[in-house]
Amino acid sequence: MKEAKKACDLCGLAVETEGFDLRTQEGEKEFCCEGCKGIYLMLHEDLVLEISDEIVRPIND
Ligand SMILES: [Zn+2]
Repeated sequence: MKEAKKACDLCGLAVETEGFDLRTQEGEKEFCCEGCKGIYLMLHEDLVLEISDEIVRPIND
């Protein structure tokens, strides 16, 4: 069984809204809001594998 709510990987609050997630070298991270996601991005930019679609798209060459 899965837990109904996940904790924000930055502040630890319950994640009420889905969509603020990031793929990192340490696995999938979920955040409660855009702000937490943004802060995590700034702090752990090197760990983030994929920033959500609307911000950065992977370049295919
Ligand atoms: Zn948060």
